[in-house]
Amino acid sequence: MSENSNDNPTESKVPTPKIYKCCDNPQITYLSPVNINVDEKTIGSVDVWRCASCMKSFCEEKQLGIDSITDIVGMPRIADDEKWGVVISKLQKGKDKWKLVKLKQSGILKFETVDEQVIDLKMENYKIVDDFHTSFLVLDNLHKAVEISI
Ligand SMILES: [Zn+2]
Repeated sequence: MSENSNDNPTESKVPTPKIYKCCDNPQITYLSPVNINVDEKTIGSVDVWRCASCMKSFCEEKQLGIDSITDIVGMPRIADDEKWGVVISKLQKGKDKWKLVKLKQSGILKFETVDEQVIDLKMENYKIVDDFHTSFLVLDNLHKAVEISI
């Protein structure tokens, strides 16, 4: 072990929150926004960041006019088998119509609706397959505005 475990034996035992690192040498730079439009009007965006070392991408949801309230220290985590996506609800309007999620190739996404109910959404090939919801992949739409008024 290379840790200096003899140093500071009286150091506080309170663990500091670990900052998530995508790799050993993170070099994260801003890549692009993806704008979310309703009736050609931008109502929010997804900010996309990328690590130049491991090429992993990170996304942050921004609702127009609302300060970011993210409680994640560092960059939000994403697993190797997940992709950043936006779920669009056909049942909601305005800012409640979309939400940043992590999509898997297949399986069930536990999706929290605006009225705080958790519903099961089926994923197929990184896309939501559902009568009332659809989705798109963030990285397929860099520098674009995606119209979600469906
Ligand atoms: Zn990295």
